[in-house]
Amino acid sequence: MIFQSTRSKHSVSDTRAVLEGIAPDGGLYVDPELKNRPFDWQHCLTLSPLGMAEAILHHLLPDFPDMQGLVERAYTGKFDTPALTPLQEAGEQYILELFHGPTSAFKDVALSMLPQLMVSARALEGEQGETVILTATSGDTGKAALEGFHDVAGTRIFVFFPHGGVSPVQQLQMLTQQGANVQVCAVRGNFDDCQTAVKETFAALRQDARFGETGYRLSSANSINIGRLAPQLVYYFIAYARLMDRGAIRPGDAVDYVVPTGNFGDILAGWMAGQLGLPVGKLVCASNANKVLTDFFETGCYDKKRAFFKTSSPSMDILVSSNLERLLYYVSGGDTALVADAMRRLREEGAYTLPDGLMAEIRRDFAAYCADEADISAEIGRLWRERHYLCDPHTAVALHAARLYREEHGSGAPQVVLSTASPYKFPAAVLAAIGGDTSGDEFAQMETLSALTGVPIPPNLAGLKDRAVRFEDVIDAADMADYICAKLGVAR
Ligand SMILES: *Cc1c(COP(=O)(O)O)cnc(C)c1O
Repeated sequence: MIFQSTRSKHSVSDTRAVLEGIAPDGGLYVDPELKNRPFDWQHCLTLSPLGMAEAILHHLLPDFPDMQGLVERAYTGKFDTPALTPLQEAGEQYILELFHGPTSAFKDVALSMLPQLMVSARALEGEQGETVILTATSGDTGKAALEGFHDVAGTRIFVFFPHGGVSPVQQLQMLTQQGANVQVCAVRGNFDDCQTAVKETFAALRQDARFGETGYRLSSANSINIGRLAPQLVYYFIAYARLMDRGAIRPGDAVDYVVPTGNFGDILAGWMAGQLGLPVGKLVCASNANKVLTDFFETGCYDKKRAFFKTSSPSMDILVSSNLERLLYYVSGGDTALVADAMRRLREEGAYTLPDGLMAEIRRDFAAYCADEADISAEIGRLWRERHYLCDPHTAVALHAARLYREEHGSGAPQVVLSTASPYKFPAAVLAAIGGDTSGDEFAQMETLSALTGVPIPPNLAGLKDRAVRFEDVIDAADMADYICAKLGVAR
């Protein structure tokens, strides 16, 4: 099975693509034949959640043997419901709860699977040296990756998060992580600075002959890694199957999905599910005040030169949405020169503009809306008052986009709103939105929220306050490569 870079003809096997994370030319690995290889999506919908995961992952990454075993090891006992991602009904839309994994964020769905793929790929490729995983996080990837990779043989993991840029609960989740092979570090700057530094560190260390001789091999747990993206297609199928079970749709009916978006990984997975045949209607891209994507879908110009806002949905505080690059590759018919040029402009000039033809293609599949802080708070409050359903600020961004889309286009296809985090990861914002008392620290706020609503606190979050902080490092983005080498004991 051949994977290709989005920026050149460079290609590798699917196992190497997972091990490398990012192509040597800076591009992301894609399957050029994604739409052309036949997939029996209708049969897939009849399977159990784990059966769907196996079928989809086997199709996307066929070189991995025993996908069934990998899927079972990834998910069995890790999620608090066999449904994996239960579908709730709330008013005019359905809500797909993706936060039932070990860290209460949707990142768990993919990051429970990625270590299994990584270990399998290492064995297949005969990799001897340790795999060093570098991860930039806007809050949730970091903890989910740490949870997935801690004490996994043959791996080390570094997580970098923006200093002061994640919620207190998210920060504590990471700083208290157990495991002998983990390192967590704050970086001065915002998430984009953090993500750019990780990408540049990749390039620098891969060109560093001395680092090469150490035997360490770098990889990524961000959604730039195809092994991270692939498991995310699964819940689009699960939601569709549950709608069929309820008689809300018949096989073949279109379903719209509304996705709270940051790095564009989650929503791209929905688009890929459509390429596999799933009747995906519109994909509604929901942004917070960092609405670079909303503007892009409207104008055709992706422009990151703008103010960066810290919001109550920090995991979406992103101005450079990495996975848009994969969409550009596909809608341009695999035009790697066009993608490479756009990414060069983004890096050097801070913006690029796509031709109208390409934008028309993209707008056929996507719509985009944004929510400001008042909108977010209003959505959380309204859903609680009207439906007694408690949602987190990221999910509220999507609820707002869903409402705007319905107002503009009427209620045609059923809407599935992806709910990406437990409200207990952001207790202050949620409490404020439903008119609760926000005094005290985040643990007091969790208690208040639970007392007020009767919604139980996830045990992994309640237990945080008893755990010791293990990491305190804060660095400049420019020092990342040196920091990693020092921790690995590599001379530079
Ligand atoms: C990561 C994250 C998002 C954004 O997902 P992308 O794949 O980066 O677009 C949305 N909500 C939450 C809670 C997240 O952790």
